[in-house]
Amino acid sequence: AYNFCAGPATLPESVLKQARDEMLDWRGTGMSVMEMSHRSDAFVEIAETAERDFRELAGISDDYAVLFMQGGASSQFSTIPLNLLGSKTSADYVNTGIWSKKAIAEAERYASVNIVASSESSGFTSIPDPSSWQVSADAAYLHYTPNETIGGVEFDFIPDSGSAPLVADMSSTILSRPVDVSKFGLIYAGAQKNIGPSGLVVVVIRKDLLGKARQETPTMMNYQVIADHGSMYNTPATYSWYLAGLVFKWLKAQGGVKAMGEINRRKAEKLYGFIDNHEFYANPIDPRFRSWMNVPFTLQDDALNSAFLEGANARGLLNLAGHRSVGGMRASIYNAMPEAGVDALIQYMAEFAQERG
Ligand code: PLP
Repeated sequence: AYNFCAGPATLPESVLKQARDEMLDWRGTGMSVMEMSHRSDAFVEIAETAERDFRELAGISDDYAVLFMQGGASSQFSTIPLNLLGSKTSADYVNTGIWSKKAIAEAERYASVNIVASSESSGFTSIPDPSSWQVSADAAYLHYTPNETIGGVEFDFIPDSGSAPLVADMSSTILSRPVDVSKFGLIYAGAQKNIGPSGLVVVVIRKDLLGKARQETPTMMNYQVIADHGSMYNTPATYSWYLAGLVFKWLKAQGGVKAMGEINRRKAEKLYGFIDNHEFYANPIDPRFRSWMNVPFTLQDDALNSAFLEGANARGLLNLAGHRSVGGMRASIYNAMPEAGVDALIQYMAEFAQERG
């Protein structure tokens, strides 16, 4: 089966098999990783190796701390303003879709939010032209969502945030291609797409941004505290961290993010190319900003949606229904989706269009 779910998403099969093989007895310790103290030598080695591999894959320098936190990407929507506002009262946000809006709504609890640009009036089908952005002079940071998982719209450039640190929700695009981390103040990503199991959230923060948390910030949300304790202020999500480490090893074996970027580009181009060449299917996104990771599409006739999904399920092409807020279909084709999965989907779409079109 090929699982096109947007998250929790498919994981590499070899990773799942290794996890299964090691589940009851990790390397002769007589324990599952789930049963190990997070302070044990064995787990500390697992955790440190995962961080080292992640840093190597993403190209993260010592100027940045890497934190393995909990509460998913959504918890960062409030953690970020609490930590980064410092003595400032306002923050800049770009509104490109549902995930941007959620981040904005949460930030509004703590900050005066300035929307520097929005693509809402065009139904979030494009990215606002940066030359028209109204960046404010005194913002504590500029937040944007490089890939909108639901809308399927993705930045093909890194915005210029001026002197304010740039903050990015990379939940559904992290490690999918090379990115210049030095352009960012903070990057965060919920794990359940390209990293591992849900609940875990990886935060990459430039070290000079630590130590600015508001006094009322909950300890568990204070980046400085988490960094000082090696992400072990409390009991971390040990098993998720371990699985993330297996995914990082797998990614390195595939050739890292450069090789992955080439594969991902090829997968996306194939699928969009097919959609554009068949009147039966449509994708509404400005071609320049189409997501490599989440490909929403509609059928010529909505009345065929359930037949399409039933037929897909029967072939082992799973979770193709679009997000409940937008309808239609969505194929999420993250790192772990093999090219053969995209080929199988295209084959099915062609046959379905021929039968029903
Ligand atoms: N941001 C983006 C871009 C997402 O795609 C998601 C989840 O799908 C989230 C945030 C929320 O992540 P979580 O469910 O881990 O809180």
